[in-house]
Amino acid sequence: MIRENYLGVDVCRIDMKDALDEVDRIISNRKPSFVVAINPEKIMKAQKDESLRNLLNSASMQIPDGVGVVIASRFKGGKIRSRVTGIELMENICKVSAKKGYRVFLLGAKPGVAEGASDILKKRYPGLNIVGTRDGYFKDEDEVIENIKASSPDVLFVAMGSPKQEYWITKNMDKLGVPLCMGVGGSYDVICG
Ligand code: UDP
Repeated sequence: MIRENYLGVDVCRIDMKDALDEVDRIISNRKPSFVVAINPEKIMKAQKDESLRNLLNSASMQIPDGVGVVIASRFKGGKIRSRVTGIELMENICKVSAKKGYRVFLLGAKPGVAEGASDILKKRYPGLNIVGTRDGYFKDEDEVIENIKASSPDVLFVAMGSPKQEYWITKNMDKLGVPLCMGVGGSYDVICG
């Protein structure tokens, strides 16, 4: 994948189709990987925080989430022409998962919100197999990890805000053994309206 670099942060030169092709490749590969949505806010945070910058750059795919990234690309002679927003990619991954039988786990947000989002997504994408949900305000991390592992998802969405969710994913992804982990910020709240 070709990447452009804005103030030290990598962003993939991709559209939605490329992103979904990469998702399929990551899932069939089975190796724990994570996808991160890049917007100007994250780029600014990463300016002051080298470990965050390294973490963002270590993702398997950095999607051009913010319109500011597309504008920066045009301005700097890059070739990123359209946004791939985190929430749209999440919805499309659910659509593909319903078709291909990928198992999906929703972690994060306040108690009840992930369940609500799960109900809505299952109605929207008939056949979608959501194998578990869990709120993002747990105390016993080991129990949550065991819970996720026992459901053996192919896709784990983590909605705990950024960069908390990205740190949580990178700290635990090898233990979890989930092929595709992705931080989705406030997406469950948006889905639930
Ligand atoms: N959240 C969580 N655990 C925490 C902190 C936040 O599950 O310890 C959830 C919060 O309930 C909300 C989401 O993370 O659903 C953060 O949404 P926000 O829009 O602030 O994130 P952003 O998209 O700006 O990163």
